Amino acid sequence: MRARYVQVEKANAPLKLVTREVPEPRAGEVRVQVEACGVCHSDSVTVAGLFPNVSYPRVPGHEIVGRVESVGENVPQWKVGQRVGIGWYGGHCRRCEPCRRGDLVACQNLSIPGITYDGGYSEYVVAPAEAIAAVPDSLKSVDAAPLLCAGITTFNALRNTVAKPPDTVAVLGMGGLGHLGVQFAAKMGFNTVAIARGAEKEKFAHDLGARHYIDSTGADVAASLQKLGGARVILATVTDADAMSAAIGGLGHKGEFVIVGVPGQAIQASVAGLVMQRQSIRGWPSGTAIDSEDTLKFSEISGVLPIIEKYPLERAAEAYDRMMSGKARFRVVLETGA
Ligand SMILES: [Zn+2]
Ligand SMILES: [Zn+2]
Repeated sequence: MRARYVQVEKANAPLKLVTREVPEPRAGEVRVQVEACGVCHSDSVTVAGLFPNVSYPRVPGHEIVGRVESVGENVPQWKVGQRVGIGWYGGHCRRCEPCRRGDLVACQNLSIPGITYDGGYSEYVVAPAEAIAAVPDSLKSVDAAPLLCAGITTFNALRNTVAKPPDTVAVLGMGGLGHLGVQFAAKMGFNTVAIARGAEKEKFAHDLGARHYIDSTGADVAASLQKLGGARVILATVTDADAMSAAIGGLGHKGEFVIVGVPGQAIQASVAGLVMQRQSIRGWPSGTAIDSEDTLKFSEISGVLPIIEKYPLERAAEAYDRMMSGKARFRVVLETGA
């Protein structure tokens, strides 16, 4: 069987639509017929060659939704025809210390679709069975796809903080991750504060469920959060180190500054609050397949959905450029076989 794949032939080469032989799933693997795949900023790892160990040609894409089309041996848990998803977590090594301690997404040899094996800019993906998540019937594939990276990252970070409803939770940034983070925080019952650049985004922040909005171009973010009593959690979804540094002072007692976006520069924090008010700064790395299932279930129950722009598979290069331009509202998704 042959099918369409969009591949990167070497680092910084353009995305190219090709027809290739579809690999058979080996023991422990599942072959998924792709229906949708989100286009994520982390796809630049493959396109621009940011990791030294990526081998080419490589098909990007780690926000994959489709149907199980074929299963290898020893995969009793997945059946042909089931709708499933695969996110950033694409399998683990079982040998490193985090794996041996059960922290699979922190695996030091993590498998990632689209980076360590061919991903979802294609009609078929073959992945390890442990990377597969069930997708609820009521969610459309194009809506579920971004929830497998942008969604799980913000949802799973938020549910693993010290915050409990109705604590004050601030979401820094209202882009691809942040527009989902604000919705999740609001639906979890937090006193949700959205922080973004520009007064014109205030109405949109309230539409997403935020009770408060801080325009970081017109206000001191830390002081504004302190006026609200201080944040129990600030979820940093931006990749701007200065914007992060300006927000850390908004933490309240035992507040946590949780980072899911990786800036190129170091962040700065004054230490007094960290010590005297027991505050902390930490990162959060997405989640495993069962966390993806929880994210999708929560979205189904609560109505949290990404705002997307759709492109057909053959326009993947254009879709990728649109995502990289930073102008997409808010996640770009490839529709495959539509
Ligand atoms: Zn991603
Ligand atoms: Zn490992």
